[in-house]
Order: sequence, then structure tokens, then C-alpha cells
Amino acid sequence: MITIKNLKKSFRTEEVETLALNNVNLNVAEGEFVAIMGPSGCGKSTLLNIIGMLDNPTEGSYNFAGNEVGGLKESQRTQLRKGNLGFVFQSFNLIDELTVYENVELPLIYLKMSKSERKEKVMKVLERMKIAHRSKHFPQQLSGGQQQRVAISRAVVTNPKLILADEPTGNLDSKNGIEVMNLLTELNQEGTTIVMVTHSDRDSHYAHRIVNLFDGQIVTESQNRAMGAVV
Ligand code: ADP
Ligand code: MG
Repeated sequence: MITIKNLKKSFRTEEVETLALNNVNLNVAEGEFVAIMGPSGCGKSTLLNIIGMLDNPTEGSYNFAGNEVGGLKESQRTQLRKGNLGFVFQSFNLIDELTVYENVELPLIYLKMSKSERKEKVMKVLERMKIAHRSKHFPQQLSGGQQQRVAISRAVVTNPKLILADEPTGNLDSKNGIEVMNLLTELNQEGTTIVMVTHSDRDSHYAHRIVNLFDGQIVTESQNRAMGAVV
């Protein structure tokens, strides 16, 4: 699903140039659950943002599901992102002015789905994430664990092929963190590919494979368990 070759990313701010990713090579197969680990500032989020087509590499190539991403126009990239990718962030990134229902409905509006179809899909995913009873509430009225379940609902309502999660349990206590990891594992077992950035050894055990980044380079990779193995 993902083939990344000789990827480099540098950021230039005034006088300083930061090489955030330095010659990264990474393949992720369909159905895999990969954890990216490493110290703060080593390039984890930069890599995830490039995989999510939210940012472009400075050098190298990125192929997603047979599409050479570097060669696409912005409109084609947006099209590829819609419906294929779901994002989950540490800080939930919900829209405070919209209700739980409206937050989760938003990606379906972008897909130009009819109102009745949207309602069916939103309620189904909210029920599955055990948050349907809060559908008319606003994000600030919810606990952190509930907000992350809404964010996961929003990420999966379009049935994406790939979920990108950047420290999804970073703001959660261990009970809610484990619940989020169990939800991601369930989605993975149903076939969704997951690439997750984490600082947590506990969370990394849910993945098939751990990729360790240091100073913008992949330094080690280790296999946790085979794909398809029971956790
Ligand atoms: P991590 O997620 O592993 O903590 P990041 O990918 O956020 O690391 O950052 C990697 C490096 O790139 C850091 O040195 C960071 O300061 C720098 N960086 C990230 N984003 C930007 C940006 N938009 N502009 C300038 N520097 C950036
Ligand atoms: Mg980060």
C-alpha cells in the first residue's frame, strides 16, 4: 500500500535549515499495523504528514496504492486522500463549534453523500464507538476518552483504507488509552491498514511491526507478531 524511497524532508526557517527526514525507506503492506517510535523531534509527525499527503517531501518518492503521489496535482491528491485516509491526532482536533454528530458527518459532506445516507453512516459509527448518546453534545462537554472516540468515528466513517494516528493516546489516561488501542486493533483486524506514531511501549505492542526513527533516519525495525496472529 505504501512504498517510500529515499525520502528527504527539510524545513527552512530564516537562516536555519532542519533536515527532518534523511533518506527514509519504508514499505507498508495492506492490512499491516505499524508503529513509528523515537524521541521528540526525530521526524515522526513529519513522516506521518507526508504519508497522509498533508505535506510534500523535499526529495524521494512516495507511492500510495499504486499512485505516485509526487506526480499528482493538488486536486488529484485531495481526491486520493478523501475516502482513502483517516486521521487521528493526540489533541483530537475536533471542531468545537460543531456537535459530535456534525463533526463525524463532515467527511461525508465532503464526499457529497446524501443526507439520509450520512445519517445512517454517522449513527452506525457512533453506536459502534459507544458515543451515540452524546451525538448532540459539543466536544468541550465530553471527556478526553469520549473526544478521542468521536475523532476515531470521524476518521473511520468514510471506511478508509488507511488510518494515520499521531500519538492517539498521548492525552488519555491508561483506561481510555487501552480502549482506543483496542478500537484501533479491531479496525485493523477488519482490514484497515494502520500507521501510528507513539511514545508508549504499551501501545507499540498492539502493532505488527515497530519502526524506530532517530534524527530523521530509520535506525531499527522489529517484528512484534505476524499479520493475522491473534493479539
Ligand atoms: P516528532 O514528531 O518526532 O516529534 P517532527 O516531525 O514534528 O518530530 O519534527 C522533526 C523536526 O522538524 C524537528 O526538528 C522540528 O522542529 C522540525 N519541524 C517540523 N515541522 C516543521 C515546520 N513546519 N517548520 C520548521 N521546522 C519543522
Ligand atoms: Mg510529533
